[in-house]
Amino acid sequence: MAEIRQMLDFLAHPEADCGDINRLLDEQLARVRARLKAMHAMEKQLSRLRAHCEAGHTAAECGILHELTAAAHPRK
Ligand SMILES: [Zn+2]
Repeated sequence: MAEIRQMLDFLAHPEADCGDINRLLDEQLARVRARLKAMHAMEKQLSRLRAHCEAGHTAAECGILHELTAAAHPRK
């Protein structure tokens, strides 16, 4: 990861300010948290979608497909 390499660069500059390392870490944390949030939202959406089907029927009868179709064509 580029950030790790960047942090290791600080080893070569022991006189550098710690604030720069913290800033780097803060940015990385923010990125990871944003990704986690997006993944969480997707997990919720997928499991909600999954609950619409218990298998044992054709795709035409599938609640998952009905949900997706409804999402793609919202009722006015
Ligand atoms: Zn189904």
